[in-house]
Amino acid sequence: MSEHIDEREVLVENPFHTARLKPKRKGKKPPKLIAVVHQSGCTGCEVCIAGCPVDSIELVPGPDASNPGFRQMVEIDIARCIGCQNCSQDCPWETITMYEHNDSFIAWGNETLSSNLYMTQGKLADVLEKENISLEPPKSDEGSEESA
Ligand code: SF4
Ligand code: SF4
Repeated sequence: MSEHIDEREVLVENPFHTARLKPKRKGKKPPKLIAVVHQSGCTGCEVCIAGCPVDSIELVPGPDASNPGFRQMVEIDIARCIGCQNCSQDCPWETITMYEHNDSFIAWGNETLSSNLYMTQGKLADVLEKENISLEPPKSDEGSEESA
């Protein structure tokens, strides 16, 4: 159905996803609870998306590239979820569960079939190499040129 996510690989945020342009979660401490979608039970009905106050739920296209609207599902940006629990209460299929912050990463790995928000570090390195892209800020040879 989708690429297998090997639990031994390090996952990183997909820097090319448009969600990275959205405001980041405020506050130094992460929320106590984080929402995780059990994607195998998600129907892609989008009910949860409407109730998320920080717009951290994204649609994932279905596995058939020629018909991406078929069997689509959602994923939650765990880096931006504030743990409000709206989505877990709103989901008609009860397929979103709130996890303690630290447990949420393991749950995410177990419950995620397809992700556009996150990718393995290896895959990101491959993409950057293939496209000859650097995520490092350009270095200045003449010292700091930042405006005061
Ligand atoms: S718990 Fe709240 S902030 Fe987190 S994804 Fe669900 S609705 Fe959005
Ligand atoms: S409300 Fe539930 S079933 Fe509907 S898209 Fe969200 S997680 Fe999936």
